[in-house]
Amino acid sequence: MALLEIPSRNAFDQELILEKSVFNPGDFGEVRIPVGRMPSDTRLYVNTYVFRSYHPGPTLLILAGVHGDEINSIEVVSQLLQEGTFDHLKTGNVIAIPLLNVFGFNNFSRDVPDGKDVNRSFPGALGGSLAARVAATLTKKILPFVDLAVDMHTGGSSRFNHPQARFHSRQSPAFEMAKVFNTPYVIKQPVISKSFRKTAKDLNIPAIVFEAGESVRLDGDAIHFGKRGVKRLLHHLGMIDFEDNETVHSTVIERTTWQRASQSGIFIWSRSSGDFIQKGEPLGVIKDPYGNKSVTVLSRYTGFIIGHNNASVVNQGDALFHIGIEYDHEGF
Ligand SMILES: [Zn+2]
Repeated sequence: MALLEIPSRNAFDQELILEKSVFNPGDFGEVRIPVGRMPSDTRLYVNTYVFRSYHPGPTLLILAGVHGDEINSIEVVSQLLQEGTFDHLKTGNVIAIPLLNVFGFNNFSRDVPDGKDVNRSFPGALGGSLAARVAATLTKKILPFVDLAVDMHTGGSSRFNHPQARFHSRQSPAFEMAKVFNTPYVIKQPVISKSFRKTAKDLNIPAIVFEAGESVRLDGDAIHFGKRGVKRLLHHLGMIDFEDNETVHSTVIERTTWQRASQSGIFIWSRSSGDFIQKGEPLGVIKDPYGNKSVTVLSRYTGFIIGHNNASVVNQGDALFHIGIEYDHEGF
């Protein structure tokens, strides 16, 4: 695979300045960016970690915790920092933010306390709603230094996502980044209005989303694929040495849809994320709580299950399976 052509947007001898902390080539350190106060008057910060090598190269942003309850994503960056992955970069810079939405994290919530979603509040405004302020902190203070970005997420409440990297266009360097990440699925998904990826795209910063596992619950596989993907990308960019002994077949998925529950009840799946399924095949059952009625869920599609619902009780219309219905069998 050809090396990604990511031009550095900053002259390398330029200082990288965050909140009055000056980083020259070879410098590294933590910056606590103030983002607000809790009602208790406790100040909250976005802890940001900057690593600069002595040699010119791109600046990669590794972002997690845009949704405060997506703990797998936070744990990926936390472990990478703990293991010193960025301590001796050969070229370029890394800016790592393990937890952007500190409000959501403290409240065990995806959102900030007023219910707004940070990932629907970009580019944000420093004088706007709480979510807009968190988004603007990233847009205004961090993104001016960034050349490419990885935004780490998990599925929502009880929704499990099989490890996947999402890109918006095969023509974008984001597609190459997603391929380098080498997750079981590489998924084309249009950028969502007011999302981080939309702002990154507007600023011409190639960005991918990594998705794995579900919110709140830690998952070893999800964390492994996240860490491995970041290391593979850094290696590909010539920023670290990383020997990957694992081979994973990636399936490229171009279009996805949801299979929803046709009735309410106790949901027991028999097929789950990572499986290839045929139209008409049983995927699980939905039962009433009294042992009277059990209905088999038959697949309405042929494709790959990229995510599934782990909820034990579902309502009619709830999303049960997220299925990739247009796919490239060959992958790479
Ligand atoms: Zn998320």
